[in-house]
Amino acid sequence: MREWQAQDRPLLEVKNVTKRFGGVVANRNISLFVERGTIVGLIGPNGSGKTTLFNSIVGAHPIDEGEIWFDGREISRYRTAQIARMGLMRTFQQTHIFGKMTCIENMLISMPERRRQLRDLFSPGSRADRARAVDLLQFVGLYSKRHHLAGSLSFGQQKLLEFAMALMSEPKMLLLDEPTAGINPTLINGLVDRLRRTNAELGITLLVIEHNMRVIMNLAEYIYCLAHGELLAAGPPEEIRNDQRVIDAYLGAS
Ligand code: ADP
Ligand code: MG
Repeated sequence: MREWQAQDRPLLEVKNVTKRFGGVVANRNISLFVERGTIVGLIGPNGSGKTTLFNSIVGAHPIDEGEIWFDGREISRYRTAQIARMGLMRTFQQTHIFGKMTCIENMLISMPERRRQLRDLFSPGSRADRARAVDLLQFVGLYSKRHHLAGSLSFGQQKLLEFAMALMSEPKMLLLDEPTAGINPTLINGLVDRLRRTNAELGITLLVIEHNMRVIMNLAEYIYCLAHGELLAAGPPEEIRNDQRVIDAYLGAS
């Protein structure tokens, strides 16, 4: 297992986390870390516990054992909204957008502190927020759709919108759950480029669950692989690509 590179603690640390659902151990004694400013991958066959780990990290459900640290604080018992305010957010395998609202409206209500304020649904948002929403829609390539209903977008465009919504609150770190799933193969390179720019230009640290091996091998500088709820392997992409345990886990699953 690698050691931290930087002087300071990693931005995200998962320490010996176990999560059970009744008799199912979805995550068993998982430890991993993500240093500030990096892109790290999380792979593993279906049902290996990747999404469960994301849910544990953002406080969507309580963990049974272990600790989770973010930006110098133990967040293991924090609620999702508290964690979001600290600058850690996730996106979903399935999108969570409001189809009957326009792209800009979705952007304006996406900030965690806004979610609960219904009156914001009926107010146009501050000028600064609107300008930021338009900039981010431009960043993800949805500028021309900004006044369209989100429900009229293709699935891939909805995922881009959801990604832009997550950027609205200026997170320090994003957890992306299969960002390329369901996206037209011709659009994947553009998305990968945007994820890189999100990291390099906006300085956002990324932990990415991804099934597309070509994508994750290109994007991540370090990769963790889960199988059956346990950490199976960890290493740089070239090591993971040739790891017989990883290859067997995927072959066994398909
Ligand atoms: P992955 O994202 O790697 O495909 P998941 O984390 O979704 O895997 O699932 C890991 C295991 O945990 C599976 O066996 C799944 O059925 C189980 N699981 C996930 N969420 C729940 C839940 N809310 N209730 C019960 N079992 C769950
Ligand atoms: Mg999943």
